[in-house]
Amino acid sequence: MMALQTQTLFISAGHSMSDPGAAGNGLTEADVVLDFRDRLYDRLADTVVLARDGKPGKNLPLRQACEMAKRHDVAVEFHCNAFRLPGATGVETLSSGEDAALGSDLCCAVSGVLGIDNRGAKGEGSGQHSRLAFVRAGGIILELFFITNPDDLASYRDNLDEVVEQVAQVLVDAVCVPRSGKGVA
Ligand SMILES: [Zn+2]
Repeated sequence: MMALQTQTLFISAGHSMSDPGAAGNGLTEADVVLDFRDRLYDRLADTVVLARDGKPGKNLPLRQACEMAKRHDVAVEFHCNAFRLPGATGVETLSSGEDAALGSDLCCAVSGVLGIDNRGAKGEGSGQHSRLAFVRAGGIILELFFITNPDDLASYRDNLDEVVEQVAQVLVDAVCVPRSGKGVA
């Protein structure tokens, strides 16, 4: 559907080689989320105007990502969850209450494609990360799956193109209104 973009969009990788994040099954969060951000950017750039926190394969420091998040209407940062027990599974978001609806839509999209638990849209104090400056900057943290769970990771690898597509569609819907819809200024 043709759509009119009414809100600005920023996507961010939660980790880089200098801050690789959690590890599991031979991968780090940085391996996963940098690749995911760039695939999603390439998909979205055909449809909407957006920004990302660094050139392909690069990740700006969190401080700069937060400054960028503050300047955009919708900002989403990607992470993987981790737990000491390999059975922990699912997708969740961490955000302020006003972003809970979008967080819930993102959780549904990822859960549906990967066939993993929907842990839901949570408040900022709920995750493994104590440092939630990104949420305080107005962003949503999307914990895609558990990097410590071999089944979560296998499903992510098998369904990567589709999870990129479904997350892209949620974000397009979030920043656009249909051309025929009401509320177009
Ligand atoms: Zn992380």
